[in-house]
Amino acid sequence: MTQLADEHLTDDLSRMSSELGLIGPRVCGVDLFEFERVQIELAKDIGRSSTMAFTFNKPARSADPNSALEGARSILSFAMGYPGPSDELASGFGPLEGEIAYYAKGDFYGEIRRRLSVVAEELKSRGYRARVTVDENHAIDKAIARRSGLGWMGKNTLILTNVTGPFVLLGEIFTDAELAHTETLNKSCGKCDKCQVSCPTGALDEDYLLDARLCLSWLLQKQGPFPYELRGLLGLRFYGCDECLTSCPVGKKTRLRLESTASAVDPIFWLLRSDRELIDHFGYMYIPKRDPSHLRRNLLLVLGNSGSKTDETREVLATQLAHFSAVVRSTAVWAASKLGFLDLLALVGADQDELVHQELARIGIVPPTSD
Ligand code: SF4
Ligand code: SF4
Repeated sequence: MTQLADEHLTDDLSRMSSELGLIGPRVCGVDLFEFERVQIELAKDIGRSSTMAFTFNKPARSADPNSALEGARSILSFAMGYPGPSDELASGFGPLEGEIAYYAKGDFYGEIRRRLSVVAEELKSRGYRARVTVDENHAIDKAIARRSGLGWMGKNTLILTNVTGPFVLLGEIFTDAELAHTETLNKSCGKCDKCQVSCPTGALDEDYLLDARLCLSWLLQKQGPFPYELRGLLGLRFYGCDECLTSCPVGKKTRLRLESTASAVDPIFWLLRSDRELIDHFGYMYIPKRDPSHLRRNLLLVLGNSGSKTDETREVLATQLAHFSAVVRSTAVWAASKLGFLDLLALVGADQDELVHQELARIGIVPPTSD
């Protein structure tokens, strides 16, 4: 028979976690997450995962708890709620303000990591090994949350908890302490389809499956030019998309609420800032390769959809049409043409980059040749 660790340990950790504002811990074992590995491989094979890396990078490694901590015996699963919208903020953004999804309005990932480290230190002080994972490739966090009964998977493909609904971040502690397992929840969305109906692109049309190729939240993180056919649907989103969370009725009355719109992003202000300033301000977010040009691309998408035709907008677009990044220049071409500043496109008249040519060709401008 397996010898469980100190019987008071789980109670002590639960008390400590509650004081830290964490939900959990729930506990599960370290069997391979074989079902999830197969699902990930399938999503990759049919292209539904787009070019997502994360756990899609090495599914076999992510599905094996031993890859996170050699000799692990238990996984403690945690969640931390973050504030969603309050009803009064429903129309809080102005016409020139880019939107940041609620999960990225502050460094909530850093916060849950700090809190979990405190719990992990307690385990270590009692002689156990412990490793914290938050949003890491070594752990399929949703699978752990589901197996341990921390929450259940919604049709929006997010983990839901009774109190917070989908407004939670997940984190884990892998440990060699043998702890009693908690039970998986037997819950589902039933007939509800609010998130599927609310999704602007149809990315959730199949129950409990995400088509990342259509997900605005993922595409705002993905490198390269933003898919042309989805740019209009993007609206003023700068980072993330909240539709499939805000539409979810689970936890709506009990979750945390944000009381201010102070995090809205002015694209003109930020496009005029230096790369260093952009990274200093937005660097807590996931930015591919920490490349500030990626942020400029997103700012230009917001500007292009803003309808702004002011002199200030025109001046900013002129600076971005001369940017060294072809992704930035090509997105600036799109924004300038959408806002009616066609004369500005003379600034890329001699541009030799294929991405810029593609954007010019969309509006009937024959690209220059190098001959
Ligand atoms: S984040 Fe937005 S685009 Fe992605 S699935 Fe949810 S509602 Fe759809
Ligand atoms: S909106 Fe409805 S279907 Fe979607 S995750 Fe929430 S409960 Fe499930």
